[in-house]
Amino acid sequence: MARPEVEWIGGAIHLADSVLWFDSPRRRALSFVSHAHGDHIARHERVIATDATAQLMAERLGGLDQVLTVPYDQPFDVGPLRLTLFPAGHILGSAQLLVVRAGRRIAYTGDLCLSPGLTAEPASVVPCDVLVIEATFGHPRFRFPPRTAALEQVEGFVRDCLARDESPILLAYALGKSQEVIRHLGEQGLTLRADDRICDISRIYERAGCPMPPVTRFRGDLGPGEVLILPPHRARTPSVRRLPRRRSAVLTGWAVDESTRYRFHADAAIPLSDHADFDQLLRYVEESGAREIYTVHGYCEPLARELCRRGIRARPLDAGRQLELF
Ligand SMILES: [Zn+2]
Repeated sequence: MARPEVEWIGGAIHLADSVLWFDSPRRRALSFVSHAHGDHIARHERVIATDATAQLMAERLGGLDQVLTVPYDQPFDVGPLRLTLFPAGHILGSAQLLVVRAGRRIAYTGDLCLSPGLTAEPASVVPCDVLVIEATFGHPRFRFPPRTAALEQVEGFVRDCLARDESPILLAYALGKSQEVIRHLGEQGLTLRADDRICDISRIYERAGCPMPPVTRFRGDLGPGEVLILPPHRARTPSVRRLPRRRSAVLTGWAVDESTRYRFHADAAIPLSDHADFDQLLRYVEESGAREIYTVHGYCEPLARELCRRGIRARPLDAGRQLELF
């Protein structure tokens, strides 16, 4: 059997027989960075990313050496490789990568969401021969409501709290999810406060061309009618625990698991996700036309198993097993 074109080396994805890595968490000579979440970035010698991702990476890592910022949908060459970035719909600037080498089309989704959001460029399926697809929610128990319905649930939670004279606290990851919620609630006329990092990232979103409603920095108190947005790890800090009559909701795809609100010490959990759910992942594979699938991250085994059951060659990239052909 021919050697796989994509391989898992040292906890990272590598395009075999090339200089190119995909989202390597360790420093490399050249890596594509699909988006700026912490587990996808590192101080590489050279980076390929969108302009928004480069700005968001700099917020986290400081000034970067050599970043080749690339617009979506415009092919460019790196040696014998022809590369094109496509929107991934996950957070602002998130990108999928298509590599064409000797006529073979190899696509890497990075983190992906096919439901159009308010603050991320809408994703489309990339036709390819070989597909490396994220599997964060690659298990059949992860089926999410439409994003608009989840945002309406968030707004309903906030308005219920305010009607009962309670202080609503929304727990959302600082990069991406928070901006999505700020955009929705701000447009509904609600008054928003957030921790410093969320406010800083929202400014970068604006600089990168994504309009954001006003949001004020949290300094330990909350006025009547105000909504507080925090990263989950800030929920139990003293300044938050001092707030009277507070009520919190965590916003995450994991909310479909009953235990999630307890795990996050929240009063409620709402399934607002910036990842594809199980059905979206299956739809992506089918529409891509790929005949060889590698799953990465999260529930990569259940997703690969379901694809094999459907007659598609699939395996977790890090399993190191032979391809199974059904
Ligand atoms: Zn991500």
